[in-house]
Amino acid sequence: MSIKEPYNKKTFEKELLSLPFCLTNYPLAPHTYYNIGGTADFVLIPKNEEETEQAYSLLKTTSCPHFVLGGGTNILISDKGFRGVILFTSQFKKFKELGDDRYFVSSGIELNWIVKEVLLKNNYEGVGALTGIPGSVGGALYMNAGTVNGCICDWVESVSLLTPNGKKEIYIKPKLYSYRSQTFCSNKDVILSAIFHFKKANTNQNLIYEHYINRRKEKQPQGHCCGSVFKNPSGTHAGKLIEECGLKGTRYGGAIISPVHANFIVNENNAKFDDVFSLIQLAKTKVKEKFGIILEEEVRILFEDGCLQYCPHQTTNKG
Ligand SMILES: Cc1cc2nc3c(=O)[nH]c(=O)nc-3n(C[C@H](O)[C@H](O)[C@H](O)COP(=O)(O)OP(=O)(O)OC[C@H]3O[C@@H](n4cnc5c(N)ncnc54)[C@H](O)[C@@H]3O)c2cc1C
Repeated sequence: MSIKEPYNKKTFEKELLSLPFCLTNYPLAPHTYYNIGGTADFVLIPKNEEETEQAYSLLKTTSCPHFVLGGGTNILISDKGFRGVILFTSQFKKFKELGDDRYFVSSGIELNWIVKEVLLKNNYEGVGALTGIPGSVGGALYMNAGTVNGCICDWVESVSLLTPNGKKEIYIKPKLYSYRSQTFCSNKDVILSAIFHFKKANTNQNLIYEHYINRRKEKQPQGHCCGSVFKNPSGTHAGKLIEECGLKGTRYGGAIISPVHANFIVNENNAKFDDVFSLIQLAKTKVKEKFGIILEEEVRILFEDGCLQYCPHQTTNKG
């Protein structure tokens, strides 16, 4: 069990800066699909497993706020930035074919690359579930990304994690994951890699791919966004509820609740964090008033001092 030392800022910062892949005052907006966010005090950008372990061994012993960033496709970051350390996984890219339809994939590989280079080329199942989801494999596993046709964890044999108690290999069973959620990786852990086990499909997956790519073009708004802002409450759709509150097309500053799909909030014109965040709050308030349903954010919201979903002092998530 690791023990968190009382946070000695100077010593910790000295250790951070000794890592060759550490950068300071780093702008985060370009690394998010929303294109919103201030600077992080420190970022660590490891390029392989050893460097990721080196970075994590430093982070796990400190109480300095830290956060793992994958492809930045499901995150809204404060304009004030982040007073801590962001661990980027996007440069850690390793892929290996293991035989018998099994593959080693590191967290930084893009999910879209897996769909095109592995699923389509081998006509594996999973194309209907995973086509068109941007971001990294690590982020997709953490979010258990997917669609009505399935989710990423359906094809995962095991996941390798860095945890405060050491490196762990978790064998994935259905009870460890559910709709846009999983219990094998906590917010203190880092997903290093996964072993996928795909299955040959008996229908042409290229056709399924084309179908879902076209469907996304028709049904989803284009532009800077995070996909669905809210999870669908049981038995209904967040977009439908928001639309029925008459909120489609509502603007705050440069952000808009998409007229195409009400569960998408788009940064249309240099939106600020507060523009998007206020629309999120508006949708939650109106849906609660009209239907008595509390919408839960699927998007991760990163404030200056920590993530909404993990901060007990942030009450906005409770409606
Ligand atoms: C246009 C668009 C369409 C989308 N469509 C879908 C969809 O159909 N289905 C769907 O499920 N999602 C969808 N999304 C949301 C998003 O793409 C997924 O949630 C994606 O899997 C997030 O991956 P990421 O690498 O970008 O994660 P990030 O946004 O970087 O991070 C998301 C969360 O994962 C954590 N995380 C990331 N990497 C790691 C790691 N290696 N270890 C531990 N934690 C980690 C982060 O700390 C954060 O809490 C869409 C987004 C967009 C912009």
